[in-house]
Order: sequence, then structure tokens, then C-alpha cells
Amino acid sequence: MSFHSLGLSEALLQAIAEQSYTTPYPIQQEAIPVILNGKDVLGIAKTGSGKTASFALPVLELLQKTSPAHNRFIKVLILVPTRELAVQIAEVFQGFSKKLPRKVRTLAVYGGVSINPQMQHLPGTDVLVATPGRLLDLLDNHALSLAQVNTLILDEADKMLNLGFEEEMNKIFALLPRKRQNLLFSATLADSVDVVQKKILTQPVKIEIEEPELDLDQIHQIAFAVTAERKGPFLRYLIKSENMKQVLVFVSSTRTADNLVVKLNKNGIQAYAMHGQKSQGARMMALNRFKSGEIQVLVATDLISRGIDIQFLPYVINFELPRSPKDYVHRIGRTGRADASGEAISLITPEDEHHFKIIQKKMKKRVEILESNHIDLHGY
Ligand code: AMP
Repeated sequence: MSFHSLGLSEALLQAIAEQSYTTPYPIQQEAIPVILNGKDVLGIAKTGSGKTASFALPVLELLQKTSPAHNRFIKVLILVPTRELAVQIAEVFQGFSKKLPRKVRTLAVYGGVSINPQMQHLPGTDVLVATPGRLLDLLDNHALSLAQVNTLILDEADKMLNLGFEEEMNKIFALLPRKRQNLLFSATLADSVDVVQKKILTQPVKIEIEEPELDLDQIHQIAFAVTAERKGPFLRYLIKSENMKQVLVFVSSTRTADNLVVKLNKNGIQAYAMHGQKSQGARMMALNRFKSGEIQVLVATDLISRGIDIQFLPYVINFELPRSPKDYVHRIGRTGRADASGEAISLITPEDEHHFKIIQKKMKKRVEILESNHIDLHGY
């Protein structure tokens, strides 16, 4: 299967080739023709499935046949739960739009930053990617109109509802023209998502993409028995002695994350904490610096780990174990993707031993626990 058979024009096919996509992912194979046909879509798929391009490509194709956005009348509205996702989606649209005959302008707007530059950039925007709260603020300021929206997309709808955006979403739906195409993407079809999809979708085509089973055999898992007092120095010893260039360290609280980062930085290891109390701007910047190799260590809590979109990581360290075995698998799944093999290292205190046994039982894999007492941590 190639992109050529999906009904996209030559201009879009060229844009796809420029992004070095050769074969459409399953969700793209299914969604692109359906969206080009004007149908509503209920997509059950997670980040990583290629869902962004599955709606960006047909939406850009359909926009090619329309006149440019007039003043503040946007044509496509994409609602998302977080700033990170807004920026990511806008970048995908912009990446595909570079050389299209009919210029398409995409803008991401989100809270936590000044509203004025966003208001200034709005005129002439075709595709607006927005978090619900900021969109309502912009509407209150008459910075845009939804009267000519012909496509509504909800991405990560489950997360948007979990974050309590339902009321805002309903206010926004009420401002949209009745006749429009609707696409809803969600990782799960939770009850709350079902309510929303029934409200906004008309005879949708349901596309469900199973997440590929994580191949735990690709991931080299090891654990070290270490006392609570030696954990900090031992972590620094591991990073330095293994010469780890890019490592994601998981902890269970914001406080531990902050403390750990202070200690790592003091010891000459470039580290940054990623948790719910960091502003979205700070998180985005840290993530980019981590991806580019400027920051060596990201210390993250589970809460935001799903927002960390990195294709492959050589090392994941569980400085503290997560409560749920599911989270453990999710954490270590950050390494050992595709053909690359990765290493997941867990630091196990005597108090963790029982819980670690449960995790191993649940994932049906035994992890060897190595002693670390003999390692001299002086100077770390
Ligand atoms: P998404 O689920 O939309 O966040 O996409 C996950 C990742 O897959 C992104 O880094 C995309 O650039 C990449 N991607 C999406 N579709 C394709 C494709 N057909 N070929 C190669 N990479 C792709």
C-alpha cells in the first residue's frame, strides 16, 4: 500500500515524500479516504499511531479546493488538551503545507502565555489548533469567528474530558455551524467520550487501531538492589560510568524530581525536571533541549510521561517504582523501540522488593536484581 492509492493530489504526495513518509500507517490507510469523502470519523488510536497525519493530510487536501480564510473566519478547528499537542499538530500541518498551491496557514493557541501575540497572528488563519480555555478567551475578545468552520477535530478527546474541559467544549460546540465535518480521536472509548461522540458525530466511520504489543524482549531490563541513602549517588554513578548521553529518569513525586535535578546539576550532569507544576512553555523547551542532546537527563513523573514524544530512548531509569505495573511497562516502553534495543534500569530498595515482584509477575517477566553494595560511590 502506498500513499498514491489514497486519493491525495500530487502536491500532497510531494509534501509526504518530503517528510520521508513512504508507507501509510494503518490509521492513515483507513482514515484518509474516509475523510476525503466528507464523512465523520471516530478514531480510537493513541499518539504514536500516526493519527495526526491521518487527519492533517485529507484536511489539507480538502482545503486546497477552498478560498483562503477571510480575515478572522477560521475554517478548521482542532481542539486539544495540552499546549504540547497543539504545537505538535500545528507543526505537522505546517510541515505538509510548505509548498501547496493554495497556501494554508495553521496557528496553535494555548493558555499559559500572553494572549496578544496570538490575537495578532489570527487573521488569515485557516487551521486553528487550540486548547479549549484559550479558545474561549480569544472568542470573548472577538479575535476570531467560528461561523465558517467546516471541519471540527477533537484530538485526545479522552484526555480533554479527563482534564475537565467538558463545559468549555460544550460552549464551543454551540458556536459552530451545524453543517460541518467532525473527526474525533481518542485513545479509548470511555463513557465520557461516548457521550461526546454521540453528540457531535453524524453516522461516523469508526476506525480502531490496536496498539502494537510492546515487545518486552527488545528491552534489556535490569535492577539494582540499593539502599534509599545510596540511591542518589548510585544514579549519578550509573549515568557517569555508563556514559549515558540521553536518559529518562522516573520518580513518583514532583518534590523528588526537583531534588534530584538539583543534585544532578550540582554534580555536573545537565538535568531538568518534567512534572505538572512546570509551565507548558518550560516543558516544551526542556523537551526540545533533551531531544537535541543539550540536556542529558530528564527527570519525570508519570503524570506527564505520556506527553513525552520521543521515538527512541537508549536508557530509562526507574529511580522510584510506579505504583501500577501498567505504568512500569509504559515507562520502560520508552526504550527498545523498532530495531533498536534499549535498557531499563530499576533501583530497588528493600521496601520495594515485594512490589517489584508483583510488577514482574504482572508483566510475566523476571528481572535480575544485581547487588550494588560493593560499588564504591565516593565522589558521586
Ligand atoms: P502521531 O501518532 O501522529 O503523533 O505520529 C507519530 C510519529 O510517527 C510522528 O513522529 C510522525 O512523524 C511519524 N509518522 C506518522 N506517519 C508516518 C508514516 N506514514 N511514515 C513514517 N513516519 C510516520
